[in-house]
Amino acid sequence: METSLLIPPEFEVLATSVTEAKVTLQLQFTASTAYCPLCNSLSTRIHSRYVRKLQDLPISGKVVELRLCTRKFFCQQQDCPR
Ligand SMILES: [Zn+2]
Repeated sequence: METSLLIPPEFEVLATSVTEAKVTLQLQFTASTAYCPLCNSLSTRIHSRYVRKLQDLPISGKVVELRLCTRKFFCQQQDCPR
């Protein structure tokens, strides 16, 4: 199955690898904006980037690891405590 069918459109697949023991999928969040979780206003100012590592249940006995390269945004509302 083509991996792009399983991935939401705001994510880009950077790499995939399958070894005898592990399936790894590396994704990058590509959206240029995000909503503040506190005041729900839209932000375009990127604060930083980081990688999240997620693991799921094994598939066919292989460990499944998801590496997600994502970003934090500054909230641009003056009165928002975030
Ligand atoms: Zn905010």
